[in-house]
Amino acid sequence: EEVNARDYVQDVYETVVKRNPHESEFHQAIKEILESLIPVIAKHPKYKEHGILERIVEPERLISFRVPWVDDQGIVRVNRGFRVQFNSAIGPFKGGLRFHPSVNASIIKFLGFEQIFKNSLTGQPIGGGKGGSDFDPKGKSDGEIMRFTQSFMTELFKYIGPDTDVPAGDIGVGAREIGYMFGQYKRIRGGNEAGVLTGKGIVYGGSLARTEATGYGTVYFVNEMLKSKGLSFEGSTVVVSGSGNVAIYAIQKATQLGAKVVACSDSNGYVYDKNGINLETVQRLKEVERKRLSEYVKEHPDAIYSEGCQNIWTIPCDIALPCATQNEIDETSAKILVSNGVQAIGEGANMPSTLDAIDVFLKAGVLFGPAKAANAGGVAVSALEMSQNSMRYSWSFHEVDDKLHQIMKNIYRNSVNAAEEYGHPGNLVVGANIAGFLKVADSMIAQGVI
Ligand code: GLU
Repeated sequence: EEVNARDYVQDVYETVVKRNPHESEFHQAIKEILESLIPVIAKHPKYKEHGILERIVEPERLISFRVPWVDDQGIVRVNRGFRVQFNSAIGPFKGGLRFHPSVNASIIKFLGFEQIFKNSLTGQPIGGGKGGSDFDPKGKSDGEIMRFTQSFMTELFKYIGPDTDVPAGDIGVGAREIGYMFGQYKRIRGGNEAGVLTGKGIVYGGSLARTEATGYGTVYFVNEMLKSKGLSFEGSTVVVSGSGNVAIYAIQKATQLGAKVVACSDSNGYVYDKNGINLETVQRLKEVERKRLSEYVKEHPDAIYSEGCQNIWTIPCDIALPCATQNEIDETSAKILVSNGVQAIGEGANMPSTLDAIDVFLKAGVLFGPAKAANAGGVAVSALEMSQNSMRYSWSFHEVDDKLHQIMKNIYRNSVNAAEEYGHPGNLVVGANIAGFLKVADSMIAQGVI
């Protein structure tokens, strides 16, 4: 059985590589999932009989479009927009939009594919999708951001809706961009469909605790992992990469739980502050002034700024929370973290560790919280935002935060149980992948060959 399952998985993987040439990030995400599923395929022939793997690796729809806009100099600019509607077996497509120059079909497909399993893990009725553009928001004026996002939505609106596909933010897309996109959607559509986007401002249909949800959720998840070994955040030293929305609230929650967060980073470099990172400064620099993190040391002379964000992983820590971007921890960084005695990794970003880095952590017996599980809090609260929009009602901050906390505990428990049941006790990569997969696969079987 095991051998047959392995061959089947290998065939599916080879088809993906052939059909999606040069898309290394997409191949990486597919490979990780497929390998985890070998014990499931071996145990349940129905998944092969129903062609589940062949179907699940192929997006239901991939949309690519031109986004023309006019910059402040009056020059016409063109970017490429994407939306991948990957899987709607358990609910409307759901997933963020990323605006970053690195965005291409491979990045959007890897993110959309991951989103299927992550969204399933939340226990909420949401399918998997993702989108974005290679537009670079860095250095753009507010007017340019507005014109770009309006043009982006002028095309995207045809494909989305509260019951079909519900985008949200990701790298480069925050409250400001969601606001402009919501305005444009409403204007074109001629009606207020609050549930078409999540991550909206609180004053016009957003959910309390959505901003905090990804970072808080990651820390709640890691806290469960630590508890299983009698450890905690209290008195620990933590390194958080990134300084965006995920990183900021991971720093805040880890600090509230008694940790000292000594470092964070942006795409240019990292700050080490032995006194603990001052979150107010980071938040003002990045969110209000939209400046570089290197400015931090002007206000905190004890802190050290170093160019190049990769070396953040050379700082000794008990807990590492990669909250920046894909493949930010490679094999070398993983080995350095392990030799410096790291106890737990919680992935706040999507796919921040390479496959080799994950191997290093698992072999060393380090607690490892994979992205699909550890960063699912963001999209989980997005689903709660959709629920509140449907009810035309809003829950208090504490109500949402409590639900988030419970969801993260459930994801942890379900991942632990699935890992155990399928012969990989303690391996949350395998556990999360299997737990996320089963619900989607069974829904696909129930709904026939579509
Ligand atoms: N971009 C986030 C993620 O990677 C959130 C998606 C959402 O809220 O729809 O899960």
